Amino acid sequence: MEEQTTVRLAPEIKVGIRKKLFKVKRKIESELIETEQQLREEIRINDMTAMKTHTADINCCLGPAVNGHRIANLKKRLIKTDKALAKVDDDTYGLCTRCGDEIPAGRLISIPIADLCTLCKEKLNLV
Ligand SMILES: [Zn+2]
Repeated sequence: MEEQTTVRLAPEIKVGIRKKLFKVKRKIESELIETEQQLREEIRINDMTAMKTHTADINCCLGPAVNGHRIANLKKRLIKTDKALAKVDDDTYGLCTRCGDEIPAGRLISIPIADLCTLCKEKLNLV
């Protein structure tokens, strides 16, 4: 029988988790803005260099790729943070989205947006 398990958290713990998640969210958002600015600047510089002479310097083209990757990662983390916040509201925060087991508290303290238990995370990393 499939039953949706929930974790009943004490209201004061919920408040603490929400605060922590909002803090994480703000940090990701400011990092995102900063990285996007950097990326725009890099693209601008690259365009200028490309107009002058096309050099074989590969480094000039790596910056935007690295920051583009970073932005994609930050956006993913932002989505995860929102999901974690929604989970606090419907009492499923701290449950593994893959196997439904409880995620160890220690893992949640170091990674508040974790949505997988240690075992599932390890399994996924192996794939
Ligand atoms: Zn799991």
